[in-house]
Amino acid sequence: MKLIDIKSMTFDEIKEDFKNFKIESYRASQVYRWIIGGAESFDAMTNVAKSMRKGLSEKYFIPTVLIEKKSISKDNTIKYLFKMFDGNLVESVLMKYKHGYSMCISTQVGCKMGCSFCVTGKSGFIRNLCASEMILQIEKAQKDNNIKISNIVLMGMGEPLDNYENVLKFLKLVSDPNGLGIGLRHISLSTCGIVDKIYDLAEKKLQLTLSVSLHAPNDKLRSSMMKINRRWGIKDLIDACRYYILKTNRRISFEYIMIENVNDTKECALELAKLLKGMLCHVNLIPLNESDANAMIKSNINRVYTFKNTLENKGINATIRRTLGEDIEAACGLLRSRTQKETEDLP
Ligand code: SAH
Ligand code: SF4
Repeated sequence: MKLIDIKSMTFDEIKEDFKNFKIESYRASQVYRWIIGGAESFDAMTNVAKSMRKGLSEKYFIPTVLIEKKSISKDNTIKYLFKMFDGNLVESVLMKYKHGYSMCISTQVGCKMGCSFCVTGKSGFIRNLCASEMILQIEKAQKDNNIKISNIVLMGMGEPLDNYENVLKFLKLVSDPNGLGIGLRHISLSTCGIVDKIYDLAEKKLQLTLSVSLHAPNDKLRSSMMKINRRWGIKDLIDACRYYILKTNRRISFEYIMIENVNDTKECALELAKLLKGMLCHVNLIPLNESDANAMIKSNINRVYTFKNTLENKGINATIRRTLGEDIEAACGLLRSRTQKETEDLP
């Protein structure tokens, strides 16, 4: 029988499952408490009878992850390379802000979307992460630093809305006050624009922040940078965003990478302002993080400020994102999934 990942289950699911297996219901709360407390095996559950522990380990397993590598930046940002139970590797980034710790976690090993500017996209797609593997990235970083993380961004490797069911499960687990207890208001989910899932998410009326990677104000430019735009163009995407705002009353954050002479001109700023006019939104300008995976150049900072001013003069709220962890390749779009071999070769 294939073992079930019990750490990806909510308390209600465990209760229901135990009922089917004719296990007394109070055992569900006992076991759940151990799982959210970080137990790595059923044998650690000392208040559960030995025979019961054996029975559980024949039906379920508790996934674990290992810290394969840790890099610390000059600004104290920490990049982790985590090894999953099947040997796959993902990166996550822990950042310290004035208001506390924020962690950028991965949702997939690799990514299918193949955006031209993104290193993760270049390595292709290996598999989805399950909810427990997203939780474990946070638990491991907390334990490693003896800290409590207060904010989460789903902006690491992968496209969260392409792993929709597992991400929804993760959101339930991470916000459980008995578990990590990180409320949805402290979580941002970033998407390249999977329109059907944005509509679905809107219906759920969750209190999380939706970030949409827009990066261009028209279809010609956006399709040249992001393959997803050939499936859902800008009109479809903006319609979905308007619907999301209508349903949730939450402000959307549009991410806009700035690439010199590609999407940072005055015309682009005016076109963008027109596109977003009247929307409950905010534009986050991100100077491109350059890498050897693409030949693009980041916009000069003066051009970024000019772009910001043009937007603001047209009534669009805009900020410039501070980049953390540049020296350890922890910045947006630079995370990659490494093969085990590559990692073993590292000094
Ligand atoms: N797949 C999701 C979330 C992960 S990417 C998405 O695309 O939104 C997180 C953010 O990093 C996105 O806004 C993405 O567009 C941005 N990004 C990707 N490559 C980048 C680069 N080279 N420089 C700056 N930001 C980048
Ligand atoms: Fe995937 Fe996001 Fe990178 Fe695009 S930017 S390839 S969607 S991770």
